[in-house]
Amino acid sequence: MEKIKMTTPLVEMDGDEMTRVIWKMIKDELLLPFVELNTEYYDLGLPNRDATNDQVTIDAANANKKYGVSVKCATITPNAQRVEEYHLHEMWKSPNGTIRAILGGTVFRTPIQIEAIKPVIRNWKKPITIARHAYGDIYKATEMRLTGKGKAELVFTDEAGKETRQTIFDFEGPGIIQGCYNKDDSIQDFAHACFQYALDLKQDLWFATKDTISKKYDHTFKDIFQELYDTQYKEKFEAAGIEYFYTLIDDAVARVVRSEGGFVWACKNYDGDVMSDMLSTAFGSLAMMQSVLVSPDGNYEYEAAHGTVTRHYYRYLKGEQTSTNPIATIFAWSGALRKRGELDGNQPLVDFANKLEEASLQTLNEGVMTKDLVGLCEGITPKAVNTQEFMVEIRSRLEKLLQA
Ligand code: NAP
Ligand code: MG
Repeated sequence: MEKIKMTTPLVEMDGDEMTRVIWKMIKDELLLPFVELNTEYYDLGLPNRDATNDQVTIDAANANKKYGVSVKCATITPNAQRVEEYHLHEMWKSPNGTIRAILGGTVFRTPIQIEAIKPVIRNWKKPITIARHAYGDIYKATEMRLTGKGKAELVFTDEAGKETRQTIFDFEGPGIIQGCYNKDDSIQDFAHACFQYALDLKQDLWFATKDTISKKYDHTFKDIFQELYDTQYKEKFEAAGIEYFYTLIDDAVARVVRSEGGFVWACKNYDGDVMSDMLSTAFGSLAMMQSVLVSPDGNYEYEAAHGTVTRHYYRYLKGEQTSTNPIATIFAWSGALRKRGELDGNQPLVDFANKLEEASLQTLNEGVMTKDLVGLCEGITPKAVNTQEFMVEIRSRLEKLLQA
């Protein structure tokens, strides 16, 4: 069989520990035998980030900007212990944070579902995608612990030096205050990303805040979404047969639980943080959660939602076989290859990406899986395999699908 060709390079960001090992296995078993992989390779493994003073992360993000699509392996975000372990020159920042700061945009997370793992919420038939606004609010808040009586005020000084003041509270005793902000352009970017992603998936978009209580802050989010929808997306949504709707966050939670799934749920920063953990747990496992960063100017970065699976890596280093789940990383590759194919009008590449996902799901649905999933299955007797065996099982199904 002739290998599938790629016209434009895909930006490849390699990473750390167990996921770096899996990365190579995926390429060797599932990609290179079938695709003439055309990637621009950046080694974001911690030793190389340290050797390049983290320049490699910046270069990789800029390459993502140039070509539009990247696939990223999980990477270590160093802490004090890692500085010692890797003899680092500095405690380098989170690569995801650096990339997000350069590309901007919104992170979408979607669970990968299989028949034998039933969501905790029985009526969820289709995955729910969380879109989290990863900017501002309490993540950039200024806080004060007040030890006694006094008046707290909100003061804004404009460029001309004119002050606007509002009393927050007259304290008769100790208390706490917090100052949060967000920016119109960041909220607009977030809204664009959500509308575009919903159109991409052809799924409804839900958005919810607490605008009845937060009449300026949350209400601004609501207004910006509504204005962009009315002026730029309404017709496109109608043509695609999908819907945008806004509701209160407490109403949204109730509706999500009662829904069948199959929509994009846009969340403010804090709501997205909390709700994405709720969703991944309720759907099954972090090892089955895919993640893509979509920037307002149409750049895509695909990755797994989980980390570098350190505990498994230390066992691997001791020569033990591990049963680490590669599914989310495989889907990062398939997602990136499909997007590359779509942008280049390269149908064979799109078909390959779809078949890679189909082969992976077939393997799981036939009960062959890594250990982390075995305990979650119902109604079947699963067969636990190690990572390498799992890849071989996927490959044999992929070969059949490609020959069909
Ligand atoms: P983690 O790598 O996600 O792993 C936490 C635990 O979850 C694992 O020990 C394992 O449980 C289970 N798990 C996660 N993914 C799995 C998979 N694919 N297959 C099987 N089990 C899986 O999180 P962490 O241990 O907190 O972080 C490790 C490193 O990853 C840190 O250095 C952190 O900075 C980095 N990190 C990177 C990213 C990213 O690049 N996007 C995200 C998060 C964390 P058992 O050990 O019980 O089997
Ligand atoms: Mg969280």
